[in-house]
Amino acid sequence: MRKTGTHFQKRIMTRYFPESRIKSSCLSLIGAVLFAACSPSEPPTATPETAVAEPDPNAIDLIIAGDYVVTMDDAGTVIQNGAVAVNDGLIIAIGTGDEINSQYSANGDLDGDNRIVMPGLINGHSHAAMTLLRGVADDLDLMDWLQNYIFPAEVAFVDDEFVRIGTELACWEMIRGGTTTFVDMYYYPDMIAQVVEQCGMRAYISATVIDQRSPDAESAADSLVKGQSFVNSWQGRNSRITPIWGPHANYTLNAEQLAATRTAAQATGSPVSIHLSESPFELDYSKQTYGTTSIELMESIGFFDGPTIGAHVVWPTEDEIKILAERRVGVIHNPTSNMKISSGISPVTEMLNAGVLVGLGTDGAASNNDLDMWEEMRLASFLQKVDTMDPKALSASTVLRMATSVGAEAIGLGDTVGTLEIGKRADVIQVAFDDVHFVPTYDVISHLVYVTDEQDVASVTIDGKLLMRDGEFLTIDTDRVRKEATELAARIQAALAERNQ
Ligand SMILES: [Zn+2]
Repeated sequence: MRKTGTHFQKRIMTRYFPESRIKSSCLSLIGAVLFAACSPSEPPTATPETAVAEPDPNAIDLIIAGDYVVTMDDAGTVIQNGAVAVNDGLIIAIGTGDEINSQYSANGDLDGDNRIVMPGLINGHSHAAMTLLRGVADDLDLMDWLQNYIFPAEVAFVDDEFVRIGTELACWEMIRGGTTTFVDMYYYPDMIAQVVEQCGMRAYISATVIDQRSPDAESAADSLVKGQSFVNSWQGRNSRITPIWGPHANYTLNAEQLAATRTAAQATGSPVSIHLSESPFELDYSKQTYGTTSIELMESIGFFDGPTIGAHVVWPTEDEIKILAERRVGVIHNPTSNMKISSGISPVTEMLNAGVLVGLGTDGAASNNDLDMWEEMRLASFLQKVDTMDPKALSASTVLRMATSVGAEAIGLGDTVGTLEIGKRADVIQVAFDDVHFVPTYDVISHLVYVTDEQDVASVTIDGKLLMRDGEFLTIDTDRVRKEATELAARIQAALAERNQ
């Protein structure tokens, strides 16, 4: 029953990314077989029928099958008629369906007909609860939009309950679209963490630090104190949830406050997420206030002395791109938001060429207006093509890495998720290629980036647990969330109408 590495490889058809290397592909597959051979949970002779009917104590948790398994490993391995074996939250083997089924039986199966299996998507920058402000006002000047709609709505309505409902709504949408990990920055982080714990997603959740009266703090000093208590409370509590620090930006905090946030983060080894070099406004403010550009300022105060996630990075200078690469700052590109609020076009191609880790994010739903990572992939690619006037810029395979493997590295989770490899956490999605827009299918990678949208995702597994199966949500009461969100939105709309009369 155990297969040799050679036999195993023969039964696999691989298609490769341009930069693929067959050697490492073989090694990882041999690893799969070795791991499988050593696995104590390998069942002797269980048939699929008996495993489904009654839980088999020797069976593994889940086998996820697909016409193609797109691993996103360094070699770009794609396995035709493949399957992923999952147990105790981990990926324990990857191979052809025949190979996996001959070695394992599972208490749960996800069929692979017309399905692509791939790693879950990594949304590197979001303000999840802002789903409740989706479409509250659009097509306005930035300051009009902020001062007359977003800030008044936040001051009047953002509390624990707003954050609970808005984050549940966001988790529903992200699960629907195949996002398995997100990096969030908003108020009431303890409530965000409770929702994430309940819905089963993986997240970095920021304690937001901002030097103004906000929904949950009076000042930078107050938000630092409250942030510390949030980080202490969630550090090590749930392996899916990482409390981090979220200093808002260098125009809402001064240099001392920015440095103080980094110092607080260093004490617990926490990452920091910040809006960085986002807009012409920030650039001008930075030059006038600090006499330098945003990234140079951060470097001068030692802000990059620990893991940092920089959201947007639209206006870095050449020297600043070198700093980002040297300091291993994870950059999160948000193409839709950058376009919608006219922030500019980020030099993603230049940053990637310089060795900067660049992932993708949606930003909040008020400036997007959805949380669809497939759309971010497509727009990121097209924006670079038109900006550089080079259709080869940001290819489908490169942008797919930004949403998975490289995105995971950019936020510091490269050893945990982002690819389908043995030993990684089982954050796995199936995309259904049923819709007419997949006919015909010549190239799976091209279709994933240039065709797929969030409605095509069929199943979502995070940490080995199924969160969505055939479009059915298993951890979120969607009827309740829809009702609560609609009722709250009606109150927000009435209050804004009265205010802006
Ligand atoms: Zn943002």
